[in-house]
Amino acid sequence: MKKIVMKFGGTSVATGENIRRVATIVADSVNKDCRVVVVVSALAGVTNQLVEEAGQAKKKDEKQIQEFTRKLVEKHVATAAKAIENKSIQKEVEQVIEKTVSALEKVLTGICYVGEITPKSKDYVMSFGERLSAPIVWGALRDLKLKTEFFTGKEAGIVTDDNFGEASPLMNVTTHQVKGRLEPLLEKNVVPVVTGYIAATQDGVVTTLGRGGSDYTATILSVALAADEVWIWTDVDGIMTTDPKIVQSAKMLPQLSYGEAAEMAIFGAKAMHPSALEPVTEACIPVRIRNLFNPENHGTLIADGQEVKSKEVVKAVAIIKDVAMINIRGAAMVGAPGSYSKIFDVLGKNNINIMMVSTAVSEANISLIIRRNLLGRALSTLEIALLGGGLVNEITSEDDVCVIAAMGANMKGTLGVASRIFTAMAQKKINIRMIAQGSSELNISFVVKEEDGEAAIQAIHKEFKLDQI
Ligand code: ADP
Ligand code: ASP
Ligand code: MG
Repeated sequence: MKKIVMKFGGTSVATGENIRRVATIVADSVNKDCRVVVVVSALAGVTNQLVEEAGQAKKKDEKQIQEFTRKLVEKHVATAAKAIENKSIQKEVEQVIEKTVSALEKVLTGICYVGEITPKSKDYVMSFGERLSAPIVWGALRDLKLKTEFFTGKEAGIVTDDNFGEASPLMNVTTHQVKGRLEPLLEKNVVPVVTGYIAATQDGVVTTLGRGGSDYTATILSVALAADEVWIWTDVDGIMTTDPKIVQSAKMLPQLSYGEAAEMAIFGAKAMHPSALEPVTEACIPVRIRNLFNPENHGTLIADGQEVKSKEVVKAVAIIKDVAMINIRGAAMVGAPGSYSKIFDVLGKNNINIMMVSTAVSEANISLIIRRNLLGRALSTLEIALLGGGLVNEITSEDDVCVIAAMGANMKGTLGVASRIFTAMAQKKINIRMIAQGSSELNISFVVKEEDGEAAIQAIHKEFKLDQI
């Protein structure tokens, strides 16, 4: 019997109608004698609302918080009413929703009284989106007469470190616990519905796996349960040559190796969470990205030895929008051993990840790319540590930039790729702010103003004829 972990993203559970689609797809597989574990994201937009509310709660009063939670109940109850026909199941799901939201209201009120939000309490607030969507999917499956039970990531047994906001799984304990809790259910043909994105530390404190983390939940569970495949259901046909919302003629890539898919995910192809491929790569579990609204299409298969066969050197192009650039200038950095390590050390100690680095041979200048939300913290720590010591004269930043990455394993040793890319940029009069190419030559990344980002993507897609791949 085939064991499949299926993850349904935010758009897949955005409406009651979509949730019925989800339930039908799960029922089809179960009726074909597959054992299915379901992982669900929050309804589209809900995690963003929770982030916003968590940030605002300290400035709000109880009335405003109640207004927010009332709307949240309304939205989920309305969705459940459309997703589930059976009235008594509907009622049961409604009660779960109300009870869950009342717990959320207590936390938000707490934050409002204390006037402070910590990474720990923020994760707890953000966990509620999935805690509200999973019971609706559970109800819709029962509506179709499937045997099912729902779990939070914590209840399913996923244990992580305490890096709140971006926690990593501890696979040994997780495997042991998940197997113990879910395997007996699968053997009895019960479909476990597990909240994506959320887990807990060994002490039981709720953590999240980073934005888009439901993909990660699915691959973690697949490894723990030694599943045959993972299916990531989303709103596009698979992993494409670029974001189809930017270039309509973007083509689906039918197969990718784990390495290629990870490279694409890291460089901004949202269809997959960047860390999600780590567990399955080691365990060699194939992952399929599929379209809930076009299930006849088999989607993109990510597996060993599935490299894209393409005549062109560039196979895909991606954009990362929420980044900022820091420029550090200092004549004394020239030939001073250890000057870069000081910069990296300061940022590393403050948990600020550097996504891209570029320097000139003259060494009087170094440019860094980091996540935009960390810019304020990065600048103040760098200024305190570096200015006034004689090494650095000036630190400036730009927060209206984006990274464009052109990817493809065939780039290695091929001449002229960079010149084709940069000529295409020049023709569109797009100014390049920074360039980096790792020695692996799997991608060329560069930075442009955010307003030029989409035009840059379109120009590269055209130059390498990616719509004819
Ligand atoms: P989900 O809610 O299902 O997790 P996401 O919004 O996280 O969905 O990811 C799917 C979206 O990723 C698509 O709608 C598409 O606009 C975007 N996307 C960006 N780059 C790519 C790409 N190269 N291939 C496919 N989708 C991409
Ligand atoms: N709901 C979470 C988010 O929006 C996780 C996910 O959708 O994968 O980031
Ligand atoms: Mg996603």
